[in-house]
Amino acid sequence: MQRRTLLQGLAAVLAAPLLPACARDDRPPRLASTGGAGNIAAAGTQATAAGRGAIVPLDKPASEWKALLSPAAYAVLFEEDTERAGSSPLNAQKRPGTYICAACFLPLFDAAHKFESGTGWPSFTRPIDPRHVGTKRDFKLILPRTEYHCARCGGHQGHIFNDGPRPRGERWCNNGVALNFVPEGDALPALRS
Ligand SMILES: [Zn+2]
Repeated sequence: MQRRTLLQGLAAVLAAPLLPACARDDRPPRLASTGGAGNIAAAGTQATAAGRGAIVPLDKPASEWKALLSPAAYAVLFEEDTERAGSSPLNAQKRPGTYICAACFLPLFDAAHKFESGTGWPSFTRPIDPRHVGTKRDFKLILPRTEYHCARCGGHQGHIFNDGPRPRGERWCNNGVALNFVPEGDALPALRS
């Protein structure tokens, strides 16, 4: 049942209309919107029945991340800034590996799910684990869209759109500066608290 609930939540999340920022065409959303202001999807933080793999959110104020991050990374992660399209070296990164949150180092994406979206932002078809991201509706551009963030530190990563490749149809449009890339074979760094 919990998986069904999660999928229903994700379906609602993916109903967000497309917008110029991070968008690549004006295709209308395929799903009817069921979300509203303040609607929080449960994609990121629901524990499984056994509790395995559940993410425990950090209780760390954004100000404490400032000393650990570049000004550009801090602006995206904790002030919801958007990096300039085409500015991230990760756009061209094609090696196998893992993309981790640039703040707390939680793995967020597997390179196997990266694809060239043509938007100028690193794009993925799915997160490495749905429990590692949280989502919320974002009204910064007046119309609603779906923001997602690291489920552990709360750092803003990007937005989800529903014009991704089949079969999932999802496009997770991420700010490159909010991610670190760990090539396959290298050890993942310990999570930062
Ligand atoms: Zn994080």
